Amino acid sequence: AKAKGRNTYHFYNQELNAAAKERLMIENELRIAIKEQQFELFYQPQVDCQTLEVVGFEALIRWFHPTQGMISPVKFIPIAESTGLIVELGEWVLWEACRFAKRLDEQGKGNNISINLSARQFKDSNLKALLSSIIIKTGINPRSLHLELTESMLMGDVEIAINQLHELKMLGVSLSIDDFGTGYSSLSYLKRFPVDILKVDRSFVKDIPQDSNDMEITAAIIAMAQKLNLNVVAEGVETIEQIEFLKNNNCFIVQGYFFSPPLAEGDVAGLYQQLALK
Ligand code: C2E
Ligand code: CA
Ligand code: CA
Ligand code: CA
Repeated sequence: AKAKGRNTYHFYNQELNAAAKERLMIENELRIAIKEQQFELFYQPQVDCQTLEVVGFEALIRWFHPTQGMISPVKFIPIAESTGLIVELGEWVLWEACRFAKRLDEQGKGNNISINLSARQFKDSNLKALLSSIIIKTGINPRSLHLELTESMLMGDVEIAINQLHELKMLGVSLSIDDFGTGYSSLSYLKRFPVDILKVDRSFVKDIPQDSNDMEITAAIIAMAQKLNLNVVAEGVETIEQIEFLKNNNCFIVQGYFFSPPLAEGDVAGLYQQLALK
């Protein structure tokens, strides 16, 4: 038993080491990546499943490392956040996504652009001024800019968060709560947050129609959003059954592999043709 315990410990230690090493590698490489611009934004369409019209895109960052290949944002965003590198990276995302939106606009494909904000960006007292200058300099319509926030970002100091939300709303932008239902926001606060959109998290959508609890929860989130006058976007939609369920429950804007994965900008034009054929 003793020997086994030692082995287990040894194994655990090695695992920790590997995780720590990877973290350190990412941290070092991130600094280089920012300098060398190894990032690209991909865009995932949000589709009105009644009309098959593209109503917007969510910008999702991709890191193409010269030797490691693609590194998932799930891996590097938290490290960018804890090291503070997210401030510079997040600023680049905002500029890049708004320039993309402007280019679409110039092609007559004017559309909403949703951008993920990190906790640090949201807390930054410069955020409003930065956004204001990006909106002016890119010439985008602020109404087309949707900022995605998560519940946990809002639940720390609620009064400060509500203030910041009001400040941002003054720019004319829309605010979304991302991954809705996975955090721990209280419903009584939800009423006080000046937000416009709820995004139903993929974890509730993915097992529809097999999981009846998930169907109940999804239907309840949609119904509640409607009562609070919020728009709803369902994320992670992969099947026609999920689309049918969402439609029957009055959620018409969907995002997911069923229509399209996130695309490089060069592939966005082809998307419109592909949707026309569906
Ligand atoms: P998120 O904001 O919840 O983004 C949705 C994630 O689900 C994306 O993963 C997207 O590619 C993926 N997805 C979309 N449709 C489907 C589907 O039908 N099935 C499945 N299985 N997945 C789907 P991605 O691009 O890997 O991004 C992961 C997370 O990284 C994002 O989750 C977001 O929290 C963060 N992130 C990505 N880009 C940025 C960024 O520019 N800034 C910040 N702060 N965070 C970002
Ligand atoms: Ca998001
Ligand atoms: Ca999400
Ligand atoms: Ca998510």
